[in-house]
Amino acid sequence: MTRSLSGRVAVVTGAGSGIGRAIAKRLAEDTAKIAIWDINFAGAEETAQMIRDAGGTAIAINADCSDKAAIQAAAAQTRKELGKIAILVNNAGIAPFTPFLEIEDDLFDKVIRINLRGPYLVTKEVLPDMLEAGWGRVINITSSSVQSGSFGQGHYVSSKGGLVGMTKALALEFAASGVTVNMIPPGFIDTPMLRGAPVDVDAFTKTLPMKRIGQPEDIAAAAAYLASEEASYITGQTISTNGGRYMGSH
Ligand code: NAP
Repeated sequence: MTRSLSGRVAVVTGAGSGIGRAIAKRLAEDTAKIAIWDINFAGAEETAQMIRDAGGTAIAINADCSDKAAIQAAAAQTRKELGKIAILVNNAGIAPFTPFLEIEDDLFDKVIRINLRGPYLVTKEVLPDMLEAGWGRVINITSSSVQSGSFGQGHYVSSKGGLVGMTKALALEFAASGVTVNMIPPGFIDTPMLRGAPVDVDAFTKTLPMKRIGQPEDIAAAAAYLASEEASYITGQTISTNGGRYMGSH
């Protein structure tokens, strides 16, 4: 089912690949105008072209979403070319695997900088547009690893756990403003990130209740719902899109 997003402007970070790409394509199908912010500029351009080929509107911007100056420049370009920003999907991230005692301090800082400080900076930059309009959607891509733990990912799970906290804090702070803030913790989703991880995907798939790995489109469907008008009474919530891997309440 497609839902009309009324030509609103959506920023999807990290949409040059995997989950972000599927979200960008889906929101475009639902009539949003898409700005892709990614350090993988070739991938971002490819996604934008796919959307334009399908009749949608999309621009690709080369931006490191953990760099404040780059974020400010990306927001300025987005506003100039598409208009004020109404929907933000904080999706860009990195997910290294390192045994805890071997994590270099610089790597820990890098993971926090990209996965947690990045969404903080990006949200702070675009939220004023939403507050001015009295309508907005922030969707944070967290991780099921916060719910279950994950071997060798002390840095990553810490960063995504911080993003869970930020989602709830902002949901509360802006609840009366027309801006909702929600999160999607993906389970195992078939993307270049997962295929590059030291994980036996086929063996793991057999342990999943649904016996199939998730597709980026599964996450995109949840994001499309949270971005829609129909989700206006939902904030601070979690749509665990994981094939039944984790069934807890957060
Ligand atoms: P992906 O295929 O690696 O795509 C991530 C995209 O973000 C890439 O284009 C990447 O560029 C970009 N990126 C990385 N750092 C960036 C930065 N500082 N600024 C801007 N863009 C940046 O990964 P994915 O699997 O689609 O993951 C998307 C999100 O879902 C991530 O936040 C991830 O943690 C989360 N997630 C994924 C899974 C899964 O199973 N796939 C599960 C749980 C959570 P480069 O390729 O150049 O690095």
